[in-house]
Amino acid sequence: MKLFIPTRAFFEPAALEYPLGKKIYEELVAKDIPIKITTSHNRVLGIPGATPQIGYREAKRTLVVGVKKSLNFNTCRPSADYEFTLGTSCPGGCQYCYLATTLGRKPYVRVYVNVDEILTAVGRSIQKHLPATTSFEVASTSDPVAVEHLTGSLRKTIAFFGRQDHGRLRVVTKFANVDSFLDLDHQKHTKFRFSINSRYVIETFEANTASLAERLEAARKIAQAGYPLGFIIAPLFIYEHWRQDYRYLLENLAQILGSTVQKTVSFELISHRFTARAKNIILERFPHTKLEMEESARKFKWGKYGYGKYLYPPEKLESLKDYLATEINRLFPLAEIEYFI
Ligand code: SF4
Repeated sequence: MKLFIPTRAFFEPAALEYPLGKKIYEELVAKDIPIKITTSHNRVLGIPGATPQIGYREAKRTLVVGVKKSLNFNTCRPSADYEFTLGTSCPGGCQYCYLATTLGRKPYVRVYVNVDEILTAVGRSIQKHLPATTSFEVASTSDPVAVEHLTGSLRKTIAFFGRQDHGRLRVVTKFANVDSFLDLDHQKHTKFRFSINSRYVIETFEANTASLAERLEAARKIAQAGYPLGFIIAPLFIYEHWRQDYRYLLENLAQILGSTVQKTVSFELISHRFTARAKNIILERFPHTKLEMEESARKFKWGKYGYGKYLYPPEKLESLKDYLATEINRLFPLAEIEYFI
């Protein structure tokens, strides 16, 4: 797929005081991308948005380059001990994006340029937890691989974790431009997980992300470079031919990875769910969506943050879980299923 180049960019004034901010600025100027230096309040007004669809689409074409001010880390279960971020949002257009309810009506792509300060804070946190080893998720509010060609920040972060005896990094991505990570001295301290799904689901709901074939090829390269590797299959859908499609996905994966790599992969399995708020936002942005979000066909469950979500009913969840577990055990006998939710 083509690498993301924004239609417009906003720079926070402070971002230009950092070498990375200057580098991105110069590259975008050379490409004739319209740029404004502005504060956080003005940037949203600078993104066209006569309708929710236009606002969403244009935001995803907009890059905001800024400085991360808060350097405290939240916990991030079940994925890792803590999370930190190199940016927010991504150029992808997944209809069920897990960030739909948190990034506002204009989820512009934002990158932070004070990577050294962020990593220094991560280093302090690792030291604080010694002698324990602390794990960090770096993709809980963005997909850092999607903008790596502009920033190089994930490369720097992986190299940093390669030097940490007691720090581990976890990355998840739906993108495939991984070549700049292959020569790094990562010391197996970074685990890549590729978010994958059936071809039907990716092609129908995940616009502007890498195709299934591209993701699997990227996973193969990452495995060959010696990185720990996992797959998140999410969201899992029950639709016509779902069994056949997910079996094909896993068979395809087993074939591409080969038997040596297969032994060490892990799987995280997440069934589709939605909240009333997410459904409203999705219908605003994608009025003709094929996403199945019929409340009467789901089981309502209160979440821990005081809002409810609609899950598949227990018998359907069981059949999804049983089928996936059986196929994974058949094709990847030594792989670990970390969780199914
Ligand atoms: S790739 Fe991830 S962050 Fe980007 S739109 Fe899709 S789900 Fe959201």
